[in-house]
Amino acid sequence: MKDIMNASTMKTNDLYRQDKLFIAGEWVAPLDGRMADSIDPSTGQVWAQVVFAGTRDMDRAVDAANSALRGPWSKWSPAQRAALLRKIGEVIEANIEHLAQIETRDNGMLLSDARKNVQSLAQYWYYFSGLADKLEGRNIPVDDGYFAYTTRVPVGVVGAILPWNAPLQMVTWKLAPALAAGCTMVIKSAEQTPVSAYEFAKLIQDLGIPPGVVSIVSGIGAEVGRHLSAHPGVNKISFTGEHRTAMDIMRTGAVNLKRYSFECGGKAPHIIFDDANVDQAINAATHSAFALCGQSCALGSRLLVQRGAYDRVVEEIARRASKLRVGRPQDSATHMGPQAHQAQLSKTLEYIGIGQAEGAQLLAGGQRVSSSDLEGGYYVTPTVFGNVNNSMRIAREEIFGPVVSAIPFDSEEEAVAIANDTEYGLTAGLWTNDLGRAHRVSSQIQAGTVWVNTYRFLRWSIPYGGFKVSGLGRENGMEALDAYLQTRATIVGTNATYPDVFSV
Ligand code: NAD
Repeated sequence: MKDIMNASTMKTNDLYRQDKLFIAGEWVAPLDGRMADSIDPSTGQVWAQVVFAGTRDMDRAVDAANSALRGPWSKWSPAQRAALLRKIGEVIEANIEHLAQIETRDNGMLLSDARKNVQSLAQYWYYFSGLADKLEGRNIPVDDGYFAYTTRVPVGVVGAILPWNAPLQMVTWKLAPALAAGCTMVIKSAEQTPVSAYEFAKLIQDLGIPPGVVSIVSGIGAEVGRHLSAHPGVNKISFTGEHRTAMDIMRTGAVNLKRYSFECGGKAPHIIFDDANVDQAINAATHSAFALCGQSCALGSRLLVQRGAYDRVVEEIARRASKLRVGRPQDSATHMGPQAHQAQLSKTLEYIGIGQAEGAQLLAGGQRVSSSDLEGGYYVTPTVFGNVNNSMRIAREEIFGPVVSAIPFDSEEEAVAIANDTEYGLTAGLWTNDLGRAHRVSSQIQAGTVWVNTYRFLRWSIPYGGFKVSGLGRENGMEALDAYLQTRATIVGTNATYPDVFSV
């Protein structure tokens, strides 16, 4: 593959440079963009310089996506699209180490997690490859003399706006179903983590994709992200990020009544009943609080524990939190790496202060890590608050850092009420050995995903998305295709007659 820097052999002080945008199948200099620094959050140092697009560059990408939509891409058979998706999966699988190294440098996620994550992304491409030729319509029986059927057609040009917490995963979750459906896509990566999307473009550039089907441009959300949402040449926005940003996108996108899929934040209740297998629940609760340094929308950030198990669970999670090794994400001994950028570090520390001021009991963590070997990096200690009540801000607002708030409850009814007393509704977990309770409680939880006696189990084939402000539409699973398709009804008069209704 051309032009791919070898991240695995790149020395820490080498500067990665990407000065071209990927538009219409070519690497082009920006018309009105500029270069920007990308920071390695494990050191706080600039590790890459990357081009940011301007609004004219975005226009160029949208024009190319429209031309591709009406050009040869529209003639590709479903089987051809399926073959392309399969090839993309294979290319990802052949470059796991490279992509994982990039993701770790740019985002700070543990290298071990990044490897697993990239490996799993290939499966998403294979899954949607398998669905590309199964976009079937319906034959609808109607009156004699008419033949009615539906076809599912691509929604058109899609603008994808990505967050910084799982950059390449978000490229995959959006682009794979969009290409399976026959759409074209302009991808705007997050300003904090632009690199892996460009490296992905380098891997797929020689696979024979018609120019303009995929363009990749990074840039500032309030500038080019907004421009993309407002653009009349874009039919749909697929967005992952904050729900307040989603609301702004909805307002700016109203100009041509765009379609939307939104994956927004969460404040997941992770409920442990005292009849549960508490040891397993503790494992899951600790992992779900601190995985990805807390920068996951599925984080089990509100730990609801029934009074009989409360002390045991909370003491043990606090003990484990204080033992977790915070360190460089490339070090295989590290349990938790840095926050992905300076603003997120500040936000996490601010919420820790808010929790203390609100009177929650700080049981573990609560500071920026100050050891000399991690100097400059955005590290914070895994933090556990006890005796939280659900009206506190640390229980209501998404922190997106390694902070878990433990809330005691007495009855099943109270657990459900607390769980649902939030504007979010993305994920939830519950632990119980009572089968009836498992079904009873999971059916009352207002969330798009409910895990019972497990947590964080995600698959390409399982739909994922939110209730309430946590989102609109679903990613993954067959439902993901619905977001990129629209239905056309065709009605054929088979008698070749039409009555003279007005008879004048
Ligand atoms: P964000 O909303 O600030 O930014 C997300 C993207 O939107 C970025 O690319 C940004 O440049 C762009 N953007 C910002 N303002 C814009 C505007 N006015 N118009 C158009 N685009 C704009 O969110 P973030 O801080 O990058 O990401 C963290 C959030 O993402 C968290 O709330 C998290 O829960 C959520 N998230 C959700 C999921 C999920 O699947 N539900 C997954 C990952 C992250």
